[in-house]
Amino acid sequence: MTERHTPRVVPLVDQRSAVLAMPAAGSRIVATGSLIDQRARPLRDLRISVTDRCNFRCNYCMPKEVFDKNHLYLPHSALLSFEEITRIAKVFVAHGVQKIRLTGGEPLLRKNIESLIEQLAMLRTPEGHALDLTLTTNGSLLARKARALKAAGLQRVTVSLDGLNDAVFRSMNDVDFPVAEVLAGIEAAREAGLGPIKINMVVKRGSNEHEILPMARHFRGSGIVLRFIEYMDVGASNGWRMNDVLPSSEVVKRIHAELPLVQLDPSQPGETAERWGYADASGQHDRTLGEIGVISSVTQAFCGDCNRARLSTEGKLYLCLFASTGYDLRTLVRDHAATADLESAIGHIWQDRNDNYSESRSAQIDDSAPAQRRVEMSYIGG
Ligand code: SAM
Ligand code: SF4
Ligand code: SF4
Repeated sequence: MTERHTPRVVPLVDQRSAVLAMPAAGSRIVATGSLIDQRARPLRDLRISVTDRCNFRCNYCMPKEVFDKNHLYLPHSALLSFEEITRIAKVFVAHGVQKIRLTGGEPLLRKNIESLIEQLAMLRTPEGHALDLTLTTNGSLLARKARALKAAGLQRVTVSLDGLNDAVFRSMNDVDFPVAEVLAGIEAAREAGLGPIKINMVVKRGSNEHEILPMARHFRGSGIVLRFIEYMDVGASNGWRMNDVLPSSEVVKRIHAELPLVQLDPSQPGETAERWGYADASGQHDRTLGEIGVISSVTQAFCGDCNRARLSTEGKLYLCLFASTGYDLRTLVRDHAATADLESAIGHIWQDRNDNYSESRSAQIDDSAPAQRRVEMSYIGG
């Protein structure tokens, strides 16, 4: 049964206008594809938020009480245009980015998103490879859009789905959206060839934890990778409490008790999910049954090889999901900065990066402290 907590939401502190000063133009940095930060982490993954709007009101991300009819979304003129996004993305790719994820807000709400995908799909790494181009969506518009997204050059999708039980799902999205439509979207994505498909389930203790096993049973052997995400203290509006977090170790334990699991090696450096494969009768990984992932950003820090940068809807560059301020790349682009200047600025920003929020806070998590001034996930994307 779904249990609804009295929402403990926190009024939004608008961090969108806060900007970090661009690094002083020191020596010029030319893109070589091998940039590293202060902790020797390369730049490989760029997440681009294409809209700050969403048709869902998941209470861990955009609680209704905060994102109500009075909430001021960004005006269209503030958003990066597709040409501006592509120009910036191209510089990131020259610096070593191999994977681009479109996100939001709900990215499929951005008009003509297919046209942005077409432009990004043309980019090539310095070695001449196509990018790993993907998108995270709540799946509500996927049934309608899957074929067009594939035709535009999108390779795969990650769909967020917090339960299979219709009542639980409706209460998690908080706009009464039926689960059947998201399941139809996942099917359409599969038929369109947008794979391998991943499913993200945010687990909130007391809200959807009873959906863990039904979800595991449903996707086991389907070729779709289900990933359980610990409810994170991102943003400042969701009233996060440690008590609401169900540790990934507990998720693995519950699934393993019914469907035996074996731990798998990471498939690539910087991977956010720990992988567990379904075991056969002899305790070996049975590939036909597939695997699950757990993302333990609260209970097990993984900043050590974090190679992700985030570009907000209005063109600010954030170096960490938990950052409170970003670097204003939109002004550079709209001031007609030369590509070499953009390249050098991004190079300096990444070289100076030292963020390791999850590691530094995991020792002492204090949810009685006032919410810090962090940007919202719907603004910089997941
Ligand atoms: N609207 C799209 C969606 O829901 O897939 C894309 C944007 S959403 C911000 C990206 C991902 O962040 C989703 O998988 C969502 O579940 C996750 N997310 C949002 N708030 C979170 C939180 N507080 N803790 C953990 N994951 C969160
Ligand atoms: Fe919207 Fe995604 Fe946030 Fe849910 S998690 S409110 S679907 S942006
Ligand atoms: Fe990367 Fe920041 Fe998350 Fe650490 S807390 S893994 S630096 S995004």
